[in-house]
Amino acid sequence: MLRRNVALVITLLSVLLIRPASLLAQKPLDAAQIQLALKKLTVVGSALYVAAHPDDENTALIAYLGNERLYRTGYLSMTRGDGGQNLLGDEKGELLGVIRTQELLAARRTDGSEQFFTRALDFGFSKGPVETLAIWNHDLILADVVWNIRRFQPDVIITRFPTTGEGGHGHHTASAILAGEAFAAAADPTRFPDQLKYAGLWQPKRLFWNRFNFQPIKPDDPSIAKSLRLDVGTFNPLLGRSYTEVAAESRSMHKSQGFGAAERRGTAPNYFDLIAGDPAATDIFEGIDTSWSRYPGGEAIGKVLQQASDTFDPKNPSKTIPLLLQAYDLLDRLSASAAWSSHPWATVKMRDLQAAIRACAGISIDIAAGDSSVTAGSTIPVSVSVINRSDYPFTLAMVASRYADPSKAVNAPLTNNIPVKTDLTIKLPADFPISQPYWLQKPPNKGSYVVDDQRLIGIPENPPAIPMVITLTDNAMHTIIMEVPAVYRWTDAVQGERVRAVDVVPEVTANLGSGVYGFPDAQPKPVTVWLRNFGVTGPVSVRLKFVTFSGAPGGSSAGLSAWRSDPASVVITFAKKGEEAHATFMVKPPPKGEMTNFLAAEAETVDGKKIDVGITNIDYPHIPPQRIFGDAVAKLVRADIKKVGTSVGYVMGAGDDVPSALRQVGYDVTLLTDDDLDRGDFAKYDTIVTGVRAYNARPRMRLAHPKLMEYVKNGGTLVVQYNSTNPQPLLVDVPGPYPFKVTSERVTVEEAPVRFVHPDSPLLNTPNKITDADFNGWVQERGLYFVKDWDPQYQTVLASHDPNEPDKEGGELYAHYGKGTFIYTSYAWFRQLPAGVPGAYKMFVNLVSAK
Ligand SMILES: [Zn+2]
Repeated sequence: MLRRNVALVITLLSVLLIRPASLLAQKPLDAAQIQLALKKLTVVGSALYVAAHPDDENTALIAYLGNERLYRTGYLSMTRGDGGQNLLGDEKGELLGVIRTQELLAARRTDGSEQFFTRALDFGFSKGPVETLAIWNHDLILADVVWNIRRFQPDVIITRFPTTGEGGHGHHTASAILAGEAFAAAADPTRFPDQLKYAGLWQPKRLFWNRFNFQPIKPDDPSIAKSLRLDVGTFNPLLGRSYTEVAAESRSMHKSQGFGAAERRGTAPNYFDLIAGDPAATDIFEGIDTSWSRYPGGEAIGKVLQQASDTFDPKNPSKTIPLLLQAYDLLDRLSASAAWSSHPWATVKMRDLQAAIRACAGISIDIAAGDSSVTAGSTIPVSVSVINRSDYPFTLAMVASRYADPSKAVNAPLTNNIPVKTDLTIKLPADFPISQPYWLQKPPNKGSYVVDDQRLIGIPENPPAIPMVITLTDNAMHTIIMEVPAVYRWTDAVQGERVRAVDVVPEVTANLGSGVYGFPDAQPKPVTVWLRNFGVTGPVSVRLKFVTFSGAPGGSSAGLSAWRSDPASVVITFAKKGEEAHATFMVKPPPKGEMTNFLAAEAETVDGKKIDVGITNIDYPHIPPQRIFGDAVAKLVRADIKKVGTSVGYVMGAGDDVPSALRQVGYDVTLLTDDDLDRGDFAKYDTIVTGVRAYNARPRMRLAHPKLMEYVKNGGTLVVQYNSTNPQPLLVDVPGPYPFKVTSERVTVEEAPVRFVHPDSPLLNTPNKITDADFNGWVQERGLYFVKDWDPQYQTVLASHDPNEPDKEGGELYAHYGKGTFIYTSYAWFRQLPAGVPGAYKMFVNLVSAK
């Protein structure tokens, strides 16, 4: 094709969003993987799998559809999994959603498919679809499912769950209901017409339910008599693995849920029931033309690509490049025509063709930024290194960016195995937004995220902050224009080379030492603010005004004016970029009363820029590190809380913030190591508390348990927070002195009434008198994994239940054992304490104080 004006092409590219499916650089492909990619280029069919959460997806089926049937395959998850429990660390809520998003992307890199979302928020366990759809906002999330269908244009949609409720969780059933409604609505011009500015109408051919198979389905099971069958256990010699093996690797990316999966081998039949669309007798894609001829003008491209695939020589992949470039030109011409501009194939296949050409030439494009962070209005150096490992005569024509100052016309021939390097400086506009995930830029509603730009809805993560445009040419007048993001690379001594996105960050961030400060009496307390300088260079001063007090939703404005801070402000001087500094203020609470207020740290640079954003770093080895920004605020909880005892030993389980909450009310908390658990030297603690899922997540608890029981027998107090039996089993038969059984029963409505079963129980009276009001203002849920069949030596304390269910007493057990006290509690203290619920503090302190 003719060489085009590169600036014009850059503008077009930004509209078409041709970019790799992931921010991370593509892994180099071996010859077998190139062969698979070439085969996939010949197929023009697509499937969208729909469910509710990260980990719901049938990864073996997704791997099969994408690599055996060679369809473009996507997983649409309603939510990002924000409401689950975290087995890796203490991130909860939206931070957990960020982790799970990255885990899904890691899974998709493994099974070769794409990831999409709606704005629905995982608000925690829901017992039915009616509640779910009311909280999500039915029309809003339906619009997002329709939007994803209109943009992806799948031939076939497959749901994980049935609409009839066997999926258990209300989110599951709701995902199937919405898929069914969207199947019809996506082709209806009267539904969500605003979307049609950016995407065409689309009628998928069929909607299936991927028959629910928590247990293997026997081939003679009458329920599958009419179902279509696919064997997803097929072996793919080009991958050297079966799809069930690929699935195990993909599924094991869900590490925050502890879903490491074993590899299965052998046949793995899956069954499909038609829910809507054209009947099919033998195959879910029956009668669907998935060849290039399905679209006008496509036949010629299909022929060339078939030839490329048929003649591929693994010993010399570059011989295939001329055919791929021929197809590239044909597609480039076609994509300008009306028939092709209305559907996504031109963009998708262009992207895949570029990847195939790069792979066949062994071309590596490394765009390394000088740092992982940059501030708006400043500059960052970027080194571009391009190497061609073939004799195909490519030339690196141009390295450009909207923000390059200036772009570079390199025009350097890419000789086999000789890298071409060029350095650029990127200057970001002064008003460039910080790299907050797009769905977290505005405060969410209860059931959904707020996203203003329609075009962002559905995509898994932010587009790269610094996209670069690389133009390759050859001697035959071909021009390949690729968008490749600048990334930051560094070497971790243990994990080797790691890669992360470049984030645009505030010049200075302010973080408070804790999210909640408890004031159990009228004593002032130190509150520390941490400042980090990302941008300002040279010695510069920042005035930290520190505190403004406010009431907020859920908090009261009572007593606001009585809070004081000393000093009123502090000046901090940074010598250079990257420095941290901190300042401590004494905060004096109102003398009396019970209230939750807020405190905000606020600073100003010399040139008057406001600093009120805090930063959270998420860093685990299995996902690229993430930066999340939030307001520099903390909750202040003022409640008169009396306590007994001072020293607490805490056995951290899966991870929670309860120790810092206990410190807030004056306990001296020691986190017990495995060695401490072995020594069993517990007598020095007034009370020992086990963190959430300690009897699941801390293997050493199996051996420590008898010693803990001995400690109770000798007069200690042991408080055990909830454990579960799934996905990790209990490490002991019973995590208590007398029998009981852990179930999966929950009370999910956070406002559910709580009854005092034994109003005279010491847990409700000493040292703090507990009243109904102490159960106000709870978040997400009352409790989870309640117990049943408890021994009569336990006394129950509280009872609660969700609407239309019987009262459940198994949320809290209290017993004496020997000279000591044992408490098992399934109430969600680990959520209420960090949320600053005053009543939860009082009640939990009563548990820790119990004798
Ligand atoms: Zn789920």
